[in-house]
Amino acid sequence: MPIAEIYGPDDFANRPHGRATTPIAPARSGPTLPRPSLEWTSEVERATAPIYQRLKHVIPSIEWPLMAPTIHAINQLKRERNAVILAHNYQAPEIFHGVADIGGDSLQLAVEATKVKADIIIQCGVHFMAETSKLLNPDKTVLIPDTRAGCSLAASITGADVRLLREKFPGVPVVAYVNTSAEVKAEVDICCTSSNAVQVVESLNAPRVIFLPDRYLATYVASKTSVKIIAWKGACEVHERFTGEELRAFRDANPSVQIIAHPECPPDVLAEADFTGSTAHMINWVRERRPKRLVMITECSMADNVRAELPDVEMLRPCNLCPHMKRITLSNILESLLTSGEEVTIDPALAMRARRSVERMINLKN
Ligand code: SF4
Repeated sequence: MPIAEIYGPDDFANRPHGRATTPIAPARSGPTLPRPSLEWTSEVERATAPIYQRLKHVIPSIEWPLMAPTIHAINQLKRERNAVILAHNYQAPEIFHGVADIGGDSLQLAVEATKVKADIIIQCGVHFMAETSKLLNPDKTVLIPDTRAGCSLAASITGADVRLLREKFPGVPVVAYVNTSAEVKAEVDICCTSSNAVQVVESLNAPRVIFLPDRYLATYVASKTSVKIIAWKGACEVHERFTGEELRAFRDANPSVQIIAHPECPPDVLAEADFTGSTAHMINWVRERRPKRLVMITECSMADNVRAELPDVEMLRPCNLCPHMKRITLSNILESLLTSGEEVTIDPALAMRARRSVERMINLKN
């Protein structure tokens, strides 16, 4: 069924101005480590050859000597500093396959990081992901290479907005997509991912649920459950740009192509897709089906990362780049390792409440 009701910032006359923010500590004042040489040498070539084998289908050989010295320096430094690098599926292949220890969606990254004995986590993703890593790994130092790596979904709603929704719908449980700030997670009952959103909503055994902040994921969930969904007018600026018309034209021109889409896309886009699923579900679908020609309706780098693993699958455009994810680069990852910047900190009382919402979801999964 369609979503029952939808609200946004303009629907609350008494809404305080402002965006969700969590304080970010300035770079640590400790000493900056000596800068490594970034020359293309025979030693660098030899040490990075196995990495290039994984990347050769997505990175031209002419570009490798420009990237390999930084990749080599990062991989050496992370061992010296006992650091682990997490990379979201939307990171560029030279990061995802070149320096990351753990790759996946935002929740997989944070959960996997709890299992490693590292002192430092470098989050190659956007800010809410670094916060989630900090929530689940409070004793580790969590660094994000560029604090400007935000997210249109996370920026669409504040903790105060959640309190206004609760006042309007007393007793109605609130589910937040993990693509929210810690401040918002602290105000809700439980979190969800795009993989488990329907399961989380139904676990609450309530006739109505407030589901935020993505209006399109809310629409998708509403189509899969009899629970009435009250939504928020947030959207991912990457996925909302796709259109059903664009996909119809693309399929007409390429009749044999398979199209798979993320549920943050508008409903007319999902109607054109052969499969809809989270990033993790999309990757599994490709691994199992091995289509000859494929379009992944999501962030462009994910197609490159899958193609590096499965070169027999031909990846066609369209796709859209996330400008926030692309703020993370090999250069600023190296800078993070050298300077310990920028450290993500969360007020302990707020972190305790936000962690509860994330852990409630994780425990549900088990
Ligand atoms: S792809 Fe969309 S949801 Fe993901 S970080 Fe970018 S803006 Fe946010």
